[in-house]
Amino acid sequence: MKAEKDKVVTFHYHLTDETGTKVDSSHDRAEPLTILFGHGQIIPGLEQTMEGHEPGDKFDVSVPPEQGYGERREDFTQRVPKKYFRDADHLKPGDATVLSVQGGGYRQVVVLKVGSSVVDVDLNHPMAGKTLKFDVEITDVRDATPEEIEHGHAHGEGGHHH
Ligand SMILES: [Zn+2]
Repeated sequence: MKAEKDKVVTFHYHLTDETGTKVDSSHDRAEPLTILFGHGQIIPGLEQTMEGHEPGDKFDVSVPPEQGYGERREDFTQRVPKKYFRDADHLKPGDATVLSVQGGGYRQVVVLKVGSSVVDVDLNHPMAGKTLKFDVEITDVRDATPEEIEHGHAHGEGGHHH
């Protein structure tokens, strides 16, 4: 079965940036990553290359920022009261953390400066502006259930539910 829209795809990956520095790897965790294909769960540049691959296939792909997490915006910063952080008392410049956003949910940010009552953060995604190199091995492809398609994500082993 091939990876395509509304299939649930399980895969291992190594991710490095353009300098070859390791960013992330599914091999560091107990299980490979499971996603619902075609629903924006992974960056477009990776999903496009994965399409049509089957279990056992290995490939690597270099994803430029415009197909990944976007270009960095230098002015994309904000001063935020400490109460909006779950871990404000332990933050220092350079830390990646999450910020509660209006309407619910969280956003990944990087700390620039910590004041007595406010924190300056960079709202760019930590991977923005980077060319990302993925080494991927597909381990499983199956049909999604109607519930998974309705929710827009994969359930069960290696997936998540919320
Ligand atoms: Zn669900």
